[in-house]
Amino acid sequence: MSTTSFRQRIRESINNETLQIALDNNTERRLKGRAIAFQSIPNLDERRQRAHAVRADVIEHLDEYLAQFIAKSEDNGVIVHRAKDAAEAIKIVLQITKDSPQRFAKDSLVPLDGIRGEKVLIAKSKSMVSEEIELNHALEKEGIEIVETDLGEYIVQLRHERPSHIITPAAHLRKEQVGELFQEKLGIPYTTDIPTLTATARKVLREVFLKADIGLSGVNFGVAETGGICLVTNEGNGRMVTTLPPVHIALMGMERIVPNLDDLALMLSLLPRSATGQKLTVYTQLLHKPFKNQQRHIILLDNGRTRLRNSPLKESLYCIRCGACLNACPVFRELSGHAYIGSDLSIAPYPGPIGSVISPGLLGENYVQLAQASSLCGACKEVCPVDIDLPKLLTRVRADMSPSHSGRRAAGEGGAGLSPATKFGLQIFARVATHPILYAASQKFAALGTFLFAPFSQWLRLPAFTGWGYSKDFPRFAGKSFRERFSNKSAEGESADWSNSKSVKSGSAVLHSNTRPLSDVQFTTELTALGGHVHADQNPTLAVIQLLKSRGVEKIHLEPNTLDEIILRAAGIEFTREPDPQILVGVTNAICGLADTGSVLIVDGAGDPLKASLLPEIHIAILKSSDIFPSLPDAMHLVKNKSSAVFITGPSRTADIEMTLTIGVHGPKEIHVFLT
Ligand code: SF4
Repeated sequence: MSTTSFRQRIRESINNETLQIALDNNTERRLKGRAIAFQSIPNLDERRQRAHAVRADVIEHLDEYLAQFIAKSEDNGVIVHRAKDAAEAIKIVLQITKDSPQRFAKDSLVPLDGIRGEKVLIAKSKSMVSEEIELNHALEKEGIEIVETDLGEYIVQLRHERPSHIITPAAHLRKEQVGELFQEKLGIPYTTDIPTLTATARKVLREVFLKADIGLSGVNFGVAETGGICLVTNEGNGRMVTTLPPVHIALMGMERIVPNLDDLALMLSLLPRSATGQKLTVYTQLLHKPFKNQQRHIILLDNGRTRLRNSPLKESLYCIRCGACLNACPVFRELSGHAYIGSDLSIAPYPGPIGSVISPGLLGENYVQLAQASSLCGACKEVCPVDIDLPKLLTRVRADMSPSHSGRRAAGEGGAGLSPATKFGLQIFARVATHPILYAASQKFAALGTFLFAPFSQWLRLPAFTGWGYSKDFPRFAGKSFRERFSNKSAEGESADWSNSKSVKSGSAVLHSNTRPLSDVQFTTELTALGGHVHADQNPTLAVIQLLKSRGVEKIHLEPNTLDEIILRAAGIEFTREPDPQILVGVTNAICGLADTGSVLIVDGAGDPLKASLLPEIHIAILKSSDIFPSLPDAMHLVKNKSSAVFITGPSRTADIEMTLTIGVHGPKEIHVFLT
């Protein structure tokens, strides 16, 4: 046990001035962005409770949902593998590379700037599961070239480091350090200009996307109902690695299931807001079938999740990896992820409050000491979009209840280790909580207590650990208990409606026709705020030609039935249906728009619209204003039977260097929507 080393690492982090500035830049801005983003959705608390319930249901019935997901995925033509641990997952990845030798013929490989020889090249987008199983290291040992393509991940890979944050991998670095790194590794003149650094990475990594034999990604959610996987990325690298290479491998923790598309929409209303302060991530992909001439594999990883599910730390599996608890944690904000080390001095794959639970939960006793790095102030629980009771779980890890010890002390096993007073309190609570009449009465008393004592909260400092009176206000008086509100809503038939939009359930045609003009305005406002361009024109062909001429563009990648091709030819504009990285402009139809986020939906089909909206520097989408829906839940049904689809919300972007927003990383730098 190296608690001394852990403490030493903590001291080093606190005394590292550069690190402290980098951390302040990151966490402060993330928290502010998150707070602003949540102002745009109503009923946040109800959504959190609903999301908590969805995740609880999934973990409770995981075997059934997994069986449904696997069956549907296989129907979709995806090859699904199950890996019980890290070694098995790595073996499967290696086997896939060996089983496809024709894809790796020598003449199809192009060495990467002399760094590589004739190796298999894997282009990889961000995946915390791959960090968990140390995939890169294992593949490199086998002579495989694996290149991280998320800007932050690429930076830490060049530094031979682990990510220091689950959302912002290079959050511990300043631009000067990135400038020195790129000068040394990529041979560019030293600069701290973030757009120049980003453009350099774009250029180098574009080569990797185009030459890769395999694309490897993580998975944000698997949808049991459709067998599809959902990936959210801002830079566009996730789209590149899942779309361009002939083989795509998706690594997925087996708990990352949602039952259906409605539940997915709920999660997507919370995840980007919580993670990056965005209403919707730039690219929200839904992949059902492999692309033409592509093979797709999904590897479902257990690696301790079954044990965790049967332990007192089960609730940690509800996590949707938004990273908000890291940003909110006063301890993480001083330390950064690299201070979260195990007793063998290895850096934990998952840091911060959730990492201090799942790192020991999945990977064992080595990381149990991480749970000491918490003040138990409750800030992590407060920001968690799925309302995980992290302080409770942290105290359980401290009480030695991680799965490796669950045989010795598990919750509910007679309360071993609890004081007589605590045991007595828990017995009373158990009696009340399991008796409906007593429970209803207790809620009345609790509500009354909150009402009476809230004004005096700052003088009423409750005992240690609760935080009430020290760092938090008392909750607002609810007026009615949840029980009463739930009963009323059930009677009104509204109990399951978490969304602000009732169009799907109560007659979409009427609501849409009433809100359409407002939707157009809102759509335009939202997309413009993100740096997109909206043009309203009854004749989009002429308007597009005007834009192309102004940019000197003579050839475009064009989806069929999008523009008047006779007029285009007459204007001297050539077009192709084939993806071509040299082409500057891609023109596609948009199946729908989303008013509240400024997003457009592009689906796979003839003329490769998904590549036309990805590879060129400028993406033009043609959208009928009658196809603008209020918000994501209203449009989810449109993707159900599509082989692949993506909601695009503004131009490609990153904030991986010092949280400075930079437009145009891997995907298009400009998006123009022509509303007809
Ligand atoms: S525990 Fe909650 S706040 Fe932390 S990463 Fe998971 S979902 Fe986000």
